[in-house]
Amino acid sequence: MTTAQHTPMMQQYLALKSEHTDKLVFYRMGDFYELFFEDAEKASRLLDITLTTRGSSAGTPIKMAGVPYHAAEQYLARLVKLGESVAICEQIGDPATSKGPVERKVMRVVTPGTVTDAALLDDKHDNIILALSSQRSRLGIAWMSVASGTFRVLECPVDDLPAELERLRPAELLMPDDLTVGILENWPGAKKKLPAWQFDADSARLTLTRHFGTRDLDGFGTDGMTVAIGAAGALLGYVKATQGVNPTHIASLGVEDHRDLIRMDAATRRNLEITETIRGERSPTLFSLLDQCATSMGSRLLANWLHHPLRSHTAICERLFAVRELMENGDGIHGDLREVADIERITARVALRSARPRDLSSLRDSITALLAMQPRLAGMESPLLARIGQVLPEVAPIAERLARAILPEPSTFLRDGGVINDGFHPDLDELRGIQTHCGEFLLQLEARERERTGIATLKVEFNRVHGFYIEVSRVNSDKVPDDYRRRQTLKNAERYITPELKEFEDKALSAQDRALALEKQLYEALLDELADAIPRLKALSEAVASLDVLAAFALRATAGNYIEPEFVDTPCLDIVDGRHPVVESQVDRFIANHTRLSDSRKLLLITGPNMGGKSTYMRQTALITLLAHVGSFVPAGRAVMGPVDRIFTRIGASDDLAGGRSTFMVEMTETANILNNAGEHSLVLMDEVGRGTSTFDGLALAWAIARALIEKNRAYTLFATHYFELTRLSSDYPSVANVHLSAVEHNDKIVFLHHVEDGPASQSYGLAVAQLAGVPGRVIREARRHLAELENHAASRQQPDLFSQPMTVEPEPHPAIEMLQDIDPDTISPREALNMLYDLKSQLR
Ligand code: ADP
Repeated sequence: MTTAQHTPMMQQYLALKSEHTDKLVFYRMGDFYELFFEDAEKASRLLDITLTTRGSSAGTPIKMAGVPYHAAEQYLARLVKLGESVAICEQIGDPATSKGPVERKVMRVVTPGTVTDAALLDDKHDNIILALSSQRSRLGIAWMSVASGTFRVLECPVDDLPAELERLRPAELLMPDDLTVGILENWPGAKKKLPAWQFDADSARLTLTRHFGTRDLDGFGTDGMTVAIGAAGALLGYVKATQGVNPTHIASLGVEDHRDLIRMDAATRRNLEITETIRGERSPTLFSLLDQCATSMGSRLLANWLHHPLRSHTAICERLFAVRELMENGDGIHGDLREVADIERITARVALRSARPRDLSSLRDSITALLAMQPRLAGMESPLLARIGQVLPEVAPIAERLARAILPEPSTFLRDGGVINDGFHPDLDELRGIQTHCGEFLLQLEARERERTGIATLKVEFNRVHGFYIEVSRVNSDKVPDDYRRRQTLKNAERYITPELKEFEDKALSAQDRALALEKQLYEALLDELADAIPRLKALSEAVASLDVLAAFALRATAGNYIEPEFVDTPCLDIVDGRHPVVESQVDRFIANHTRLSDSRKLLLITGPNMGGKSTYMRQTALITLLAHVGSFVPAGRAVMGPVDRIFTRIGASDDLAGGRSTFMVEMTETANILNNAGEHSLVLMDEVGRGTSTFDGLALAWAIARALIEKNRAYTLFATHYFELTRLSSDYPSVANVHLSAVEHNDKIVFLHHVEDGPASQSYGLAVAQLAGVPGRVIREARRHLAELENHAASRQQPDLFSQPMTVEPEPHPAIEMLQDIDPDTISPREALNMLYDLKSQLR
């Protein structure tokens, strides 16, 4: 079917659609956005809206589905959440003067990673779009948060990709069409393949320098980078194309340097339940516990800080200093911050020229609220808190300007008018004057006409459809003067217009139209003016967001009785009376425990019953370390920390079925990563390693892994195990210490004390825990009997020594086996064979 066979409107639609084949096209028709053909089918399925057909084009019925334009946002939000992208096509021509279909154009494209509308974004989470490119084993990553203007690049080995994806959690991925990286095949989020040439480093450099208005990229510290620059160029090009305007708020490019951060791989971020629980829920997590931020910018920055613990003790101590000061003198600051809106996202919308009137009034009110707080902040000594005081005077004029320009409570949409303040522009005041005087004029007219006609019930009124009219009840219609022209007949009344009223109507309606047009023009000019202020507004939003996070730290520290961690250069992790911040908030009484690690005490071998508290103890050590390096106070009696470069965890059994890996495979992959990368300043948590395979395999692996960690990695290690045999490692290595979680058995019932004590556990209490879990008494009794037999049997035989080298564990052969070995099948008759079989069976009994 050729395009020429279609109706002119469908031709226009198909031409637009051909440029956006991978997106849904919202095609504006009057008060609706319509979708056609496959788009209509898809949208009706995804959005549960009616699929209809209308007319036909080129001989086939046109499938159609539509959404009302004023409710479009809610549909867009659902589509974007499902990973779809939408091209929004508006009418730009004037329907009155158009021949054929009104001119239309795709004004913007909404994609999962580039949305900026307030209604489509999650307040508390950054919406990130990430582009990647690779060259041999090197990976270039560029990521951006369009709604806040952050733009960053980094280069890393390809193997780091899972960790980066877990850290950044992008809503959308861009990659060259020739890139093949295994884990991306199963990536569940939105991903787009772009032509590989868009990732070319030289043209990327050009795109970037043109956008930033710089001669080269040296000022951004990207020396030596090529793959990442290629990705950054592709990303910027993509974002520009979606927004329909130049995103001027993306004003610089930052280079991420992981050497400044404590690194955590993907599994560690998940296991520590920093911003999401293992089950994918938002609470309870470390973030949900700490997030008492007053603003959404603060919440987003908090999530970011928690995922980026710092290594520099100086930088951490700056934050701690501010927290201390806020705890001492910051009363009320947190409450005042509640008056502050999401300046960060408003700034982005100002730059993208999509700011709504209430964005501007909120910006004005927020700056005013911050100015009121300034005297209190000015007294603070912390340089981090003082920063806000330096930025504020620079933005004060913006608040003044907006106070003059925008009404105290403007309407939601510019198109409704009622946005620009009175007294801001004389022409607008005059046009509004005509409308205000309208009421007076109509009353006068009504009084005059009543007198002239002698009809006491005569009314002068207005409605949107018929404009102004004089209404006279039917019984009085014979009294109307000659100059009344009939406008409309109702059941009991007639409506008229007079030349005088008509003249007034023209003036009033045109005044309204002109006022609306003028308001629009003034508003656009205001956005132009604000464009210059974007760097100042960004600086303000950054300063306010950090103040908010630091204030949240202070609140948590006071409420939770946290202490300030201390940092030293000598290697150690010394936590006295540490608590698990999240578990502590969920149990009635939390038992605090020490974690003491140093050069001479590097591996703690942790034994104790299931449910005894081993995982909790290990995680609390990691969480306290993490919190300290984020600049927060910590739940402990005292905490002294030496240098830490990485945190690793191998915790819990999780199948990666989607990725096609069994529990044991996941466990060993994570272990391999630890053994290959942990160093002497790393903190390693190993929980029940070797559990996913047979006992001897698992024990042998656990033993060898522990030895490697002690001898080669020399990392600070917490090693929880149910293989009691490993507790003997402490006699071979002075840097290994045994600790256990205590429990007591009382009347065959187990009571967990959750207290960490020196030495190995005396028993494993497996049966007691099973009983506690509700395993039937009959099964427990049976198990108890069998356990006694096993123990007797074991005691009567020499224990194999698993730790002698080489490891030889040869059980004594069974008599039946010996007999089998002696049989020569070629020399016996069938009858003999059958008899032997009976013999063998009886041996087994
Ligand atoms: P394990 O890893 O030894 O099986 P967990 O660490 O999962 O045990 O702890 C089991 C439960 O015991 C936790 O969910 C928590 O409710 C409780 N618990 C653990 N440690 C403590 C503690 N120190 N104080 C109080 N309750 C604790």
